[in-house]
Amino acid sequence: MTHDVRQFGMLIDGRLVQERGALLDILNPATEEVVARVPDATDDQLAAAADAAGRAFTTWRSVPLAKRRRIVRAMGGAVQENLDELTALLTSEQGKPLSSARKEVESVVAWADWLATCEFPEEETRENDTHRLRIRNVPLGVVAAIVPWNFPVALAFRKIGPALLTGNTVVVKPSPFTPLTMLRFAELVRDIVPPGVVNVISGGDSLGPRLTSQQGIQKFSFTGSTVTGKKVMDAAARQLARVTLELGGNDAAVILPDVDLDSVADAIFESCFRNSGQVCLATKRVYVHDDIYDEFATRLVRVAAQARVGNGMDEGVTLGPVQNQVQYRRIVQLIEQCERSGLAFLLKGEVPDGPGYFIHPTILDNPPDAAAVVSEEQFGPVVPLLRFRDVDDVVARVNDSEYGLGGSVWSADLEAASRIAERIDSGVVWVNEAQRVLPNFPVAGHKASGIGSENGIEGLLQYTSPQVISVRKP
Ligand code: NAD
Repeated sequence: MTHDVRQFGMLIDGRLVQERGALLDILNPATEEVVARVPDATDDQLAAAADAAGRAFTTWRSVPLAKRRRIVRAMGGAVQENLDELTALLTSEQGKPLSSARKEVESVVAWADWLATCEFPEEETRENDTHRLRIRNVPLGVVAAIVPWNFPVALAFRKIGPALLTGNTVVVKPSPFTPLTMLRFAELVRDIVPPGVVNVISGGDSLGPRLTSQQGIQKFSFTGSTVTGKKVMDAAARQLARVTLELGGNDAAVILPDVDLDSVADAIFESCFRNSGQVCLATKRVYVHDDIYDEFATRLVRVAAQARVGNGMDEGVTLGPVQNQVQYRRIVQLIEQCERSGLAFLLKGEVPDGPGYFIHPTILDNPPDAAAVVSEEQFGPVVPLLRFRDVDDVVARVNDSEYGLGGSVWSADLEAASRIAERIDSGVVWVNEAQRVLPNFPVAGHKASGIGSENGIEGLLQYTSPQVISVRKP
């Protein structure tokens, strides 16, 4: 090892813990070098985090909402003050370009600000001649937040913020590939939240299953793949813990013949390849009307070929590496499978020799719907372009998927596009844009894309249970 490797600690019960147990190497996916080491939480440390969150809940739940709002906002403030450091750390572990990492970190501030001011219905009173009913939305208790590696900070805070605002306490488990920014976040908020209200633990592949077997947790808020989501739900069922599951997707874009080709090609490129395609709500299938298919394909290929793939730390780079070796191999094998099956490529991106998990944008030319690159979630910089003629037919093809996360329809005719959007079986369908997620509206995966919702008031309420205080009048 030629450079100093930083070591991070976990936040358990308000203390930074790094002295016991094994350490895990965290790699930079652009260089495959170790950037830092993190603790591999022991069973005792996991139990200590859950216990601390349980104890903290008994007082945190009674902290007035106005104070909880201030604390949530102050967490956003701490992120804002350390924006440059967190941005660089995120790029070093996740791989995305600095400009994208900055946007991700800034989104925490936006979410915190929204949570600090949103109209959250803490309690409602209904009254008649005989009774006064107070219908309260009370917190659940300890929430475990399990987070993937594609947006390690944004997705974690979308659980931490709402859970805390509604009076819950949390144990956060980042992905084993990307724990660093969350551990640093924990250090930064240590003096802002009371001990035990936020705990962040790191570990290898066994920590997720150990966490879902841990007693004393009332809810698992999970974002990740559908395969893992089913395991989380199974484990949660054994202790009747609540779940919110934000899972995989295979979002389609439907492009009608009346669009402006240049601007839509730019937008579709972004939606397919942003974060190197590693976005749950990325466009993963592009259905283009036959009348414009060839012209659109030419434009999309032109934009994609100009992408600058490289180390996210380097200026001008627009797409970073695939985040980890497992996913990199999956995508390389998917491309090889497309080749072996004789599928046509509009653009076959370079896969340079390492180090670094780099794959340049790759676009397939009208593969059959049954091909894996169409029917499965690829989660990388590979996208199929597909022809259609008939709207009913394309809606049926779009809906012929186990997933129902998002989607988009593109047309100059907003009414026609909206009518098609309504027929797509997914939790969010955009018209003339894609991937726009804001704090104030819910994202709810339909079908195998999830259970429950995150964001918006609807997502907040998922961290609560109704409690009725029914008072009989004299
Ligand atoms: P993953 O399911 O492999 O891992 C997600 C998290 O679960 C990680 O922290 C992992 O350590 C943990 N985990 C793994 N096995 C577990 C188990 N048995 N019990 C409990 N926890 C366990 O997902 P990933 O590869 O990190 O992320 C990519 C996937 O996430 C894609 O399918 C993507 O679409 C999905 N995703 C969905 C959303 C959404 O909002 N719907 C957002 C981002 C990513």
